[in-house]
Amino acid sequence: MTSRLVIFGPPGAGKGTQAERLAAHLSIPTISTGELFRGHMREGTELGHLAASYISRGELVPDSVTVDMLKDRLQDPDTSRGFLLDGFPRNTAQVELLDELLGDKRLDGVIELAVDEEAIVERLLKRGELEGRSDDTEDVIRERLRVYSEQTAPVAALYKERGLLTTVDGMGEIDEVTQRLIAAVDAQ
Ligand code: ADP
Repeated sequence: MTSRLVIFGPPGAGKGTQAERLAAHLSIPTISTGELFRGHMREGTELGHLAASYISRGELVPDSVTVDMLKDRLQDPDTSRGFLLDGFPRNTAQVELLDELLGDKRLDGVIELAVDEEAIVERLLKRGELEGRSDDTEDVIRERLRVYSEQTAPVAALYKERGLLTTVDGMGEIDEVTQRLIAAVDAQ
């Protein structure tokens, strides 16, 4: 069975961690646009320099840049059995761009990870200290949350209309959340 899935939720919802676990359960790769950008930034590529200028401000990288990068990744052979997209689509234009990229290979489901905002800021500040991510400082976190509610939250409504959306409670122990996610995709 192929599973073409999207997971999304506010910054700090624990998406990255949960995406890895869920994808392992489904034996599919995760594709995280944030991770792809950070890879480019570490390697110092031209794309990495461009992305860094947006990421360090908490803004979205322009769609054209993000889509080209994703298109390349989706051509890798490990995606033939499906994939779990983490961090894309992040605005309503990207929903359409993803439809175009997938063509008749439609999405099977979209999972929204729901968490409360106070928990988010705390988690991200901690991560900033641990991992040294340049976008995990308080001002940038606030901007990312603003961008999320303005640009990414409307994505949920679009997928809800298509009957693809499942919302999962992201609060609680990591294992507990993973179990909820697995139950949600198994039920889809
Ligand atoms: P988080 O969800 O915690 O903010 P990500 O690793 O998903 O972390 O994203 C980090 C940053 O990378 C975002 O704030 C944004 O600047 C950029 N980014 C990631 N995915 C996209 C995307 N689909 N479109 C535009 N920018 C993106």
